[in-house]
Amino acid sequence: MRVRVDHARCQGHARCFKLAPHIFELDEDGYNRMPPTEVDESQRDIVERAVLACPERAIIIEDDADEGDSRNAQSVRGG
Ligand code: SF4
Repeated sequence: MRVRVDHARCQGHARCFKLAPHIFELDEDGYNRMPPTEVDESQRDIVERAVLACPERAIIIEDDADEGDSRNAQSVRGG
């Protein structure tokens, strides 16, 4: 799966980094500026936790099988 962060939405809460510092990167000001990144399927649970933890709904999961389809906090939350 691919993990993408909407940089325009990110407000630097660092919740993603606290959950998964091996996946998410923050810049010197605490904003997540990571590029779209391929993440192993084994990390899905922690990435979904980060999606739910991000108050700005800035973290997006793009599934390999659904090219062009993406999930954000709303769909992970089931809303
Ligand atoms: S939790 Fe969301 S808003 Fe906060 S740094 Fe991570 S991506 Fe940005």
